[in-house]
Amino acid sequence: MDIKNNYYLIQQRIKETCARSGRNSGDVKTVVVTKTVQIPAIQEVIKAGATIIGENRIQDAWQKYEQIGSRVSWHLIGHLQTNKVKRAVQIFNVIESVDSLHLAEEINKRAKEAGKTIDIFVQVNTSGETSKFGLHPDDVESFITRLEALENIRITGLMTIGAFLPDPEKVRPCFRMLYNLRQELLDKKITKNLYHLSMGMTNDFEVAIEEGATLIRIGRAVFGERN
Ligand SMILES: *Cc1c(COP(=O)(O)O)cnc(C)c1O
Repeated sequence: MDIKNNYYLIQQRIKETCARSGRNSGDVKTVVVTKTVQIPAIQEVIKAGATIIGENRIQDAWQKYEQIGSRVSWHLIGHLQTNKVKRAVQIFNVIESVDSLHLAEEINKRAKEAGKTIDIFVQVNTSGETSKFGLHPDDVESFITRLEALENIRITGLMTIGAFLPDPEKVRPCFRMLYNLRQELLDKKITKNLYHLSMGMTNDFEVAIEEGATLIRIGRAVFGERN
C-alpha cells in the first residue's frame, strides 16, 4: 500500500474530471477519511499534501487530534450524539453531519461556551434509504431557517451519502439533488454562506465532481480496503 502515490492518483483524477467538466480543480478539495487507519498512515497522507482529515467517531478522532493537532482541518462526517458535542467542538473545524435541531442547538451552546463559531453542514438523505441519517430534502429549508437564529454556528454547506450502488451513474441523481437543493436555497436567500457540497466517495467521486462537489470524502482509494 503506497499512501502517497494513492493520494497523488486521486488528485490526478480530480484534475482530469474537472478539466472534462469545465471546473477549476482548485474548487474541489479532498477530505481524507482516516477512520480505518492509525496515526502513522495519517502522517503519511499529510506529507503527501492532505489538508483535511475526516473522522466519524469522537473517541478515535480525539486520540488522533492529540497527536496531529490543528495543522490540518478536521471534519466530522459521522453521526454525532449530543453527549459528545462538547468534545467534538474542541476537535472539529467542520461538523458535516448535522441533521437535527436538538443537535444544532447543542453544538451552538458548546461552541458559545468555547468562545468559537463552528462551521456546520446540513446532512441530507438524498437516497431515500431509511438506514441513512440526514434530513429529507423537503425539510432542509425550514430546518436552515430555524438554525439561522443560532449565533455560534455558521451553515456553510450540505452533505450527503449517495445510494450504496456499485454503478456510480446510478448515484448521480443523489448528487444532482443536493446541487439543486443548494441552488434553490441560495436563490430564495434562505441562507448566505452555503458554499460547500460534500458528496462523493471512493466509488463515485468523479460523478460527484461532475455534479458540483466542492468536497469529496475519500477513504479506501487512499488506504486500501479494510473493515
Ligand atoms: C467511510 C466514509 C467515507 C469514505 O468512504 P470510502 O468509500 O472509503 O472512500 C466517506 N463518507 C463517509 C460519511 C464515511 O463514513
